[in-house]
Amino acid sequence: MGLLGLIRDTGGGTDSTLRECRNCGLKVDSDDDVCPACASTEIASYTL
Ligand SMILES: [Zn+2]
Repeated sequence: MGLLGLIRDTGGGTDSTLRECRNCGLKVDSDDDVCPACASTEIASYTL
């Protein structure tokens, strides 16, 4: 049971991009272009 979940967690899915607000540093969901915390549109994205 736990094994499959563990592999999924560590192996990651297709999402390998980290997005972060340039203004406040909050991690932002990949769908969001606006920071939910400070409403900045300056979202930095890093491809891992
Ligand atoms: Zn922000």
